[in-house]
Amino acid sequence: MSLALEPVAHIDRTQHNPPPYLKADDLGPWGQYLEQVDRVLPHLGRLSRWAETLKRPKRILTVDVPIELDNGQVAHFEGYRVQHNVSRGPGKGGVRFHQEVTLSEVMALAAWMSIKNAAVNVPYGGAKGGIRVDPRTLSRGELERMTRRYTSEIGIIIGPNQDISAPDVNTNEQIMAWMMDTYSMNVGATTTGVVTGKPVDLGGSLGRREATGRGVYTVGQLAAQHLGLDLSSARVAVQGMGNVGAVAARLFAQAGARVVAVQDHSGSLYHEAGLDLQALLAHSARHGAVAGFEQAQALSTEGFWEIESDILIPAALEHQITAERALRLRTRLILEGANGPTTPSADDILADRNILVVPDVIANAGGVTVSYFEWVQDFSSFFWDEAEINRRLVRVMSEAFQAVWEVARERQVSLRTAAFIVACRRILHTRELRGLYP
Ligand code: GLU
Repeated sequence: MSLALEPVAHIDRTQHNPPPYLKADDLGPWGQYLEQVDRVLPHLGRLSRWAETLKRPKRILTVDVPIELDNGQVAHFEGYRVQHNVSRGPGKGGVRFHQEVTLSEVMALAAWMSIKNAAVNVPYGGAKGGIRVDPRTLSRGELERMTRRYTSEIGIIIGPNQDISAPDVNTNEQIMAWMMDTYSMNVGATTTGVVTGKPVDLGGSLGRREATGRGVYTVGQLAAQHLGLDLSSARVAVQGMGNVGAVAARLFAQAGARVVAVQDHSGSLYHEAGLDLQALLAHSARHGAVAGFEQAQALSTEGFWEIESDILIPAALEHQITAERALRLRTRLILEGANGPTTPSADDILADRNILVVPDVIANAGGVTVSYFEWVQDFSSFFWDEAEINRRLVRVMSEAFQAVWEVARERQVSLRTAAFIVACRRILHTRELRGLYP
């Protein structure tokens, strides 16, 4: 009897069974990202041969994160690290702690990092991590133990040349310090470049904390110029008073704009003459929320989306500007400080209504741009002053914005599709140059 296997006939080897996460009915963030990719396919020319690569994360790691709580019980949390694409360099992207984190969300956030990093042309792929936990329910000690155990668990795929974390929703400089320390203890050498967004005294970069908000402001200035919108009399509405929303609001107010409405998880506020941001931020630092701030009128959640403004900055979570809200918005310009705040159907409505959207992958790229500066400074152990950082940040953001603007004009597409065209071409070009191994 021959041991040779019969060749199997009639198999089209270009057809794959889609993995389960590619189900067409996935309407979550990953489904949203897939739809954004589909819109760019007709613009990729011969590179479309490689486009499937954008729809398949390179590596997905799910980890169990057990910790001992202060009361002696053991709690388990689910954590993820997804490396979407590493064709252009190491994976890069933040870590999010939130009670609603899902794998679909982390996959989409990792993919948006690939697009963002390519759109602003920093030499990174895209990655993201997260733990499904409400960090407000943990003590500082519990938070530290969870962060350290998570870092150890994902230690098999991260590193300064492999995959570099950073802050995202509910994570900050202290958490980056714990991650850096844990990784360093495990490898036996202080390795500052494994995370960015660290404290400045620990290899962090000046200007990193403000960088995302500053980037939002920079593209806001450019978009406003194109629209003939005068910032010194503009009305701004901001969703999210975290690191991104608060800094962006402050910079627009410094330019003379009036921040007329804000919303966070606790409520929404309105003040036609412009909110006193210093007082509001002091209130929110004290109470962990904007609700209860007295020098403003309280609004309902939906009321916030109906406020008349010139600029709207969603700077919280995904899936905020839905089709239903897009029909009611009264604004001229949307700057996406958050990742994934606008659904594809809302995008279509906003285009019809002539409301300009500067997409997340450009608008909030200031954070990762200065993360890149931080990583470069860590490797060379030579640190730049803040003016230098901000000057370089503005240059990177402005060049990226103008390039995307040109593509949008030439191809008559939205800024989102234009940003995806620029980014996907860069990613797939390197994919092609590197070739398949084996
Ligand atoms: N979490 C931020 C983002 O979504 C920053 C990522 C980074 O600096 O790596 O862009």
